[in-house]
Amino acid sequence: MSAAIQATTPDLRTELINWKERLEASAKDSADTFQFGGLLREVKAAIESLGHEGYGVCQVCHDLIGQAAMSLDPLAKTCLSCFTPEQLSELEKDLDRAWLIQGELLPKQNLKFNGWEVSYHYESAGPVSGDYCDLVSLDNGELYFLIGDVSGKGVAASLLMSRLHAIFRSLIGAGLGVSELVERANQLFAESTMRPYYATLVCGKAATNGEMEICNAGHVAPLLLHDGNVSAIAATGLPIGMFCQERYSSTQIKLGQGDRLLLYTDGLSEARNHDDCEYGDDRLPALLGECQKLPAVALVKRLLEDVSEFSLARPRSDDLTVMAIEMVGH
Ligand SMILES: [Zn+2]
Repeated sequence: MSAAIQATTPDLRTELINWKERLEASAKDSADTFQFGGLLREVKAAIESLGHEGYGVCQVCHDLIGQAAMSLDPLAKTCLSCFTPEQLSELEKDLDRAWLIQGELLPKQNLKFNGWEVSYHYESAGPVSGDYCDLVSLDNGELYFLIGDVSGKGVAASLLMSRLHAIFRSLIGAGLGVSELVERANQLFAESTMRPYYATLVCGKAATNGEMEICNAGHVAPLLLHDGNVSAIAATGLPIGMFCQERYSSTQIKLGQGDRLLLYTDGLSEARNHDDCEYGDDRLPALLGECQKLPAVALVKRLLEDVSEFSLARPRSDDLTVMAIEMVGH
């Protein structure tokens, strides 16, 4: 038996005993005890075999079943690679449903609000994404924009992404400054997220007069496109989720009409070409120099075309999000 399975055994045993008790109680109250009988026998057998050889081992290939799969289903008898076509199809449907739910968390596309125009692109490397992207406009005219990247990828990262979404949605509107908002979100995220997960993010607030307050928690620097120049807004704090009491500060900037702010995740800047060069090193600044007068929608489109051309024939290895915010004025 592996150390990994042994380490989880006490939790699995408690979980299985809970199941057994619940099943016994349900069977007692139910007129149809037959439907509980089979499952109850399986749970009892699993409790008995816990700690013996054979528990946590795939009955098809005899390899150990992954720890994550066992904690999801302590009765699992097959590893993922030995799933039947029916089981794989069910898993695929599950991921499709998760993808749909994640899509519903995304903000309105091509938002026009109070002198600002925002366009974004959100694309996952796998079935679901660990990137975080949101826009919240308030009745008082303020526009909050958020972009982030949860460590890791796939389903685990997407669950944490939806947690970030819920945390910020519930805090925005409380009248906090962005640094205080990130501090509170960091505390909630750190308290509810197991190590070693964390998230880098940028949280910004845009006012009608072009003023922006930006807090960058360890994320790739947003770029300000102003008057033919490109300047970076560096991180002002650590990624969130690492330390509960972390303090954050913010940067104030003012955008004039026609200025743009470009935010992105490292799926863009770290996209690689066949020479193993990163897109963010030379090509991104060069492109922005050429086309910084494009409207937000066209700028995002042009960036995506360019990064695809750059990384041609290399499949995307990371989730990718790009957001362009343009001050169009009233
Ligand atoms: Zn197997």
